[in-house]
Amino acid sequence: MSVDRRTIWPYVDGDPAEYYYGRYGNPVSTEAERRLGELDGGHALVFPSGSGATVALVLGLLGSGDTVALAHDAYFGTSVLLRALERWGLRLVEFDQTGPPPPDVQLVWLEPCSNPLLSFPDLTASIETAHAQGAQVVVDSTVLTPVLLRPLDHGADLVLHSATKYLVGHDDALLGVVTAADPATAERLRGFRSVSGIVAAPDPLSLLLRGLETLTLRVERQAASALELARRLREHPRVERVRYPGLGDPVAARYVEAFGGLLSFEVEGGPDAARRVETSTRLITNATSLGSVNSLIETRARWEGERVPGSLVRLSVGLESPEELWRDLLGALEHA
Ligand code: PLP
Repeated sequence: MSVDRRTIWPYVDGDPAEYYYGRYGNPVSTEAERRLGELDGGHALVFPSGSGATVALVLGLLGSGDTVALAHDAYFGTSVLLRALERWGLRLVEFDQTGPPPPDVQLVWLEPCSNPLLSFPDLTASIETAHAQGAQVVVDSTVLTPVLLRPLDHGADLVLHSATKYLVGHDDALLGVVTAADPATAERLRGFRSVSGIVAAPDPLSLLLRGLETLTLRVERQAASALELARRLREHPRVERVRYPGLGDPVAARYVEAFGGLLSFEVEGGPDAARRVETSTRLITNATSLGSVNSLIETRARWEGERVPGSLVRLSVGLESPEELWRDLLGALEHA
């Protein structure tokens, strides 16, 4: 394969070549951003983690005194991070994303399906309201991935992914993505990324490129298995409630045909029973994170406290046989 010498030597005829310094990009990030941009239908930028992408998005696009309206059940770490940024003059309000976003904010932050409560906003209505009130909308689409939902097609301004999850898909790299509908917004973020150094390295990005090869197959299978397990869990006598939009959320059904690989359920007997379930599986690993080929299970109250029910167990469904996963869950529920 011939390589353009501009990609490997810093200066040609006195001009800097395209990849003259790693903070400005590298051939692997260019390829990853091309493919992610196609998937999301916009202009994608990669970051070293989903949280790094959140920091870059907020600091790159907002200023001191601006307010973010965050879905109150969005990923716990997002609210912790945005609260931390209040020291620099950012303001945060939280709202119920199943209703309209509040006025007098600059950025509305939605998360369908929310992690771990699996709520689903009416995207079109929320985006129209936010725009009418002068706010931009970012959709954290980590859980559904571009395979199941393309928020820019519904009018969102920005999409955020923790690529650590389904996009990489194998629990072996941290990465984040922001995709902007507007090329000028992407350029502004790219400029901020270059000066701030919140830059993804080529090695994890090559794991992302590997993950994208199987993304559709993985997500489709994980969603099918999750739906089957959610249906069976709903019938189990020790399970009080299953949260999964595929069990009849009419709003979600207007936007997606499949509902992803993440679900949660509440166990009869409270937090102690839930903890016994998470530590009694054999095939499913008791660990945090989601979106991997391997199924993971955990109670969330240990991280989030009273923000979530103590009896809530989150299950990220992997690629194992659904029958084997069900046998494992049945065995664990005997310890509830
Ligand atoms: N958004 C969602 C929905 C998440 O679940 C997570 C992590 O769990 C993040 C963002 C943050 O991503 P990262 O862990 O890659 O920083």
